[in-house]
Amino acid sequence: MRTRRAALASIATAASLGLTLSACGQSSEGGSETDSSGSTKGATIGIAMPTKSSERWISDGKNVVADLEAKGYKTKLVYGEDKPDQQVSQIENLIAQDVKALIVAAIDNKSLDNVLQQAKDANIPVISYDRLILNSPNVDYYASFDNSKVGELQANYIVDKLGLKDGKGPFNIELFAGSNDDNNTKYFFNGAMSVLKPYIDDKKLVVQSGQTDLTKVTTLRWDGATAQRRMDDILTASYKTEKVDAVLSPYDGISIGILSALQSDGYGSKSKPLPVLTGQDAELASVKSIIAGEQTQTVYKDLRELAKVASNMVDAVLNDKKVETNDTKTYDNGSKVVPAYLLEPVSVDKTNYEKVLVDGGYYTADQLK
Ligand code: BGC
Repeated sequence: MRTRRAALASIATAASLGLTLSACGQSSEGGSETDSSGSTKGATIGIAMPTKSSERWISDGKNVVADLEAKGYKTKLVYGEDKPDQQVSQIENLIAQDVKALIVAAIDNKSLDNVLQQAKDANIPVISYDRLILNSPNVDYYASFDNSKVGELQANYIVDKLGLKDGKGPFNIELFAGSNDDNNTKYFFNGAMSVLKPYIDDKKLVVQSGQTDLTKVTTLRWDGATAQRRMDDILTASYKTEKVDAVLSPYDGISIGILSALQSDGYGSKSKPLPVLTGQDAELASVKSIIAGEQTQTVYKDLRELAKVASNMVDAVLNDKKVETNDTKTYDNGSKVVPAYLLEPVSVDKTNYEKVLVDGGYYTADQLK
């Protein structure tokens, strides 16, 4: 069993690994923009990503840069260290550097209104990347996954694993959600609750902590150590005699934190097995944890596809071509319904990770050793 300190240290290591890897995601420096023929090839595109502390955003940055460069664009890629103010000034800088379009994965979805107005004034189209930017009319398109489906996949996995449809139960479950300033959080959580709530209402699923409301279960900035502390507190306060059977976790970094709290409390033995534990992003540490029989499930989102969607959107907008969308109803940002292209997430566990992640070329078999 790992100590709490070891567990926190491993979260810190993961974060610094992210920083090391991030060196590969740096930008190419932009130079020329439109050529004399008016073509946008060679124009510089600004890309603002939220943080390097998670693998996924490092991959996103690399993939978007590669796709845009393959189309003949130059890129400037910046990371905001999960600090909303820093992201705002980074975007201001990109505008000042005369980028021709912006791809933004927001840290705080409500803090970008002013800076997006500056983009609009400079005639710079904005693609909201993965997370919808709220309360601004100056968001042109949204590239993401079916975020409600992510939550549904996590919840359905729990229902199946526990055998709830066969009438088994009651079981104890605890609920975790993402950052309250990320618009995706409510889609993930509400998607999951649309599946879980009937079982909670029937008392087939019992939340011993009583924390079922979204406002009670969010995790600021998706921080694994914050989730670990909350799980520690819940185990101490509500599981002296009870045992937790399932934990809804919205993201792999949070799952790793929850897992550490559970292991520190003695879960992971024959007499006290680990609960069903979901996740999202198929991050390397979590896929390894799934293979080792710790975390149970994750939701895989093919970031290569998302990068393609976003760079195709940029290319189409800049060249006055039709932008491909497949959802023009769901994503109302409070100011307008933002036309979106949504990709399909896939549930991954021990039984299908090889087929989906290795055969699909997302990881090599060696990376998962
Ligand atoms: C993304 C997830 C990610 C989370 C934490 C969300 O907005 O959609 O893929 O796990 O942020 O980075």
